[in-house]
Amino acid sequence: MNSKWIGFKELVLVDRVKECDDIVSFYFKSVDDSKLPIHEPGQYLPFKIKTDDAKYKDELRTYSLSMAPNESIYRISVKKIQNGLISTYLHENLNIGDKIDAMAPCGLFTLKENKSNPIVLISGGIGITPLLSMVYKLSINKKINREIYFIQAVQNSTQHAFRYDLDKLSEISNIKNIVFYSNPLKGDINGKDYDFTGYITEDWISKNVPLNSEFYFCGPPIFMKSLNKSLINLGVDKKNINYEFFGEPTDME
Ligand SMILES: Cc1cc2nc3c(=O)[nH]c(=O)nc-3n(C[C@H](O)[C@H](O)[C@H](O)COP(=O)(O)OP(=O)(O)OC[C@H]3O[C@@H](n4cnc5c(N)ncnc54)[C@H](O)[C@@H]3O)c2cc1C
Repeated sequence: MNSKWIGFKELVLVDRVKECDDIVSFYFKSVDDSKLPIHEPGQYLPFKIKTDDAKYKDELRTYSLSMAPNESIYRISVKKIQNGLISTYLHENLNIGDKIDAMAPCGLFTLKENKSNPIVLISGGIGITPLLSMVYKLSINKKINREIYFIQAVQNSTQHAFRYDLDKLSEISNIKNIVFYSNPLKGDINGKDYDFTGYITEDWISKNVPLNSEFYFCGPPIFMKSLNKSLINLGVDKKNINYEFFGEPTDME
């Protein structure tokens, strides 16, 4: 396997794909097309934009890798934040052929693979990215004989990113894909576009997923706090509760 680099390395943007209203995926390769280190699903890519504009120059941001582990391409998927410096720059200014200065993938929010209990991955909004990479890995590994649930919570169809990817993954593997819309639009159809209306509640969890599962979740702080509280109330072992913050860690109690 290609080992991780130290410091910064140039990567070049080779494609960009709109996933929904405010999320775009960016695909990067190494500049000389050499092999990239294979990341652990759940890890993120820290990088700086290459520009002489002092406004952006030394700003470092981290974005979770959202693709299946591989050694040729890294994909990140970025939500455009209102007044967000780098997310707006990426959406509006980063074009195919542009380069970034990236550090090697890192992070400790990764799958515990040497266990046998079921796995429940729960995403809120853009928090889907590290979990998507995990579910790709789980779907590829045919030796894994664990029940797998992928629960995606979004507002409605305008925010429903990676729908095609997840539909395909659940067709070819044993992954149970469940979608919540908190605020469906008039044209959004229950049973076709999504499965449940509203938020993921403690009651829903208790009736629909095994409580001895390994839980992984990521999303807005309020979503994570509520999920954590529900899991604790339901008696889930704290050792089986795993999460990642996309900003400053918040008090989960
Ligand atoms: C481990 C990790 C993984 C991450 N993975 C992803 C990912 O896969 N995709 C992705 O889009 N982002 C991800 N993020 C968030 C990302 O790193 C940036 O924080 C985000 O894009 C905002 O940066 P910005 O420069 O646009 O905004 P800034 O200019 O830094 O912030 C502008 C304003 O927006 C607020 N803000 C910052 N971040 C958010 C947010 N996430 N939601 C709402 N308001 C915010 C700030 O408080 C500030 O008021 C991740 C963060 C971490 C720590």
